[in-house]
Amino acid sequence: MLDKILSAWNFISETLIYIIFPPFCPVCREIVDERGDICPACLEKILRKDFYPGPPAPIEKVMRITTYRGATRNLLRRLKFDSSKSTLPALKKILENVSTDAKVTEFLKGVDVAVFVPLHEERLKRRGYNQVDLIFRDWLTKHKVPVENILVRTKKTPHLFDLTPAERKEILQDAFETINGADIAGKNILIVDDIYTTGATVTECANALKKIGAAQIYVLALASDFGEKNNA
Ligand SMILES: [Zn+2]
Repeated sequence: MLDKILSAWNFISETLIYIIFPPFCPVCREIVDERGDICPACLEKILRKDFYPGPPAPIEKVMRITTYRGATRNLLRRLKFDSSKSTLPALKKILENVSTDAKVTEFLKGVDVAVFVPLHEERLKRRGYNQVDLIFRDWLTKHKVPVENILVRTKKTPHLFDLTPAERKEILQDAFETINGADIAGKNILIVDDIYTTGATVTECANALKKIGAAQIYVLALASDFGEKNNA
């Protein structure tokens, strides 16, 4: 009896929440089926699934999933700087949407191990999480790509978005190391980050991984603005 009352109550409260706070597309505010969904029209606008032309050595390929502007910029910035995880479901849904894409699955097939671009210990403590891990870990597991936390950020660096490419490069020099005992010799490594801008961060990560014998290095970024016509 109590079970029935409880399940009826759950049904009523969920329906009420749905009516009062219906799930909406975080981009255009249209009502959608599930919380975190981005409507098909908005998805179409942001999805790219393409490769950066001429990736910086020693990186072989850089794939981005979406543009980095408007909607995706807001979602990522809120996850990083408001310590609110309210935009995480939408970011994860973006990845779910490309899960069966032939180009994406083909790209992942060549990967032996994935590593997330690490935060400096102090920033990790302050933020409480690495946003890259939150966005990508479940998705990579689903694709049977093992994740190893073998990279460490040894140098404290400021936020990079106000710096020129040359300043970024200088400030990030030797910012990453691999942990003792990391065994990736001869393996193809996927460096995973949320945003790809000048490539300075992932290039430094790649250099550290190459030092201990990594074979091919690939990069997967959720968002990047390369090749976009304007910055609107
Ligand atoms: Zn929308």
